[in-house]
Amino acid sequence: MAKKIFKNDKGRIAGYLRILANHMGLRDWTIVVSDKDPDNPDAEACAIVTYGTKYIAIRFDPDWASSSERDFQHACVHELLHAHFAPMQWAIQNAELPLGSTAYHILRASHHDALEVALDAIASEWSATLPLPYHKDEL
Ligand SMILES: [Zn+2]
Repeated sequence: MAKKIFKNDKGRIAGYLRILANHMGLRDWTIVVSDKDPDNPDAEACAIVTYGTKYIAIRFDPDWASSSERDFQHACVHELLHAHFAPMQWAIQNAELPLGSTAYHILRASHHDALEVALDAIASEWSATLPLPYHKDEL
């Protein structure tokens, strides 16, 4: 039987996210593991930051426990990075009315693509310095 991250206990993700968040400048954020699946069925996870707050809800793919430790760690770091970049998304949203629908759609989609690529690159480098989702007693 393949090893499952946190022995498939989804409730333990929140504790792991808190450890990562404390290393990532997010000590004062509220981090919630959502019971919902990611909006995009192809995504391993997604993050929803509540506007104007330091509250982030993270949704994981139902098969999260079968990920490799490194892949799961990367997904967690990537999603937590969305907390730092949420104000950029809010700034883009402010352009909707003055730009109009077509220009706004292009700007938003382009910004989203660039953001996701940047977050993946940052998560790849930063993850190497952060704890994996297992502790010694779980191996
Ligand atoms: Zn993302």
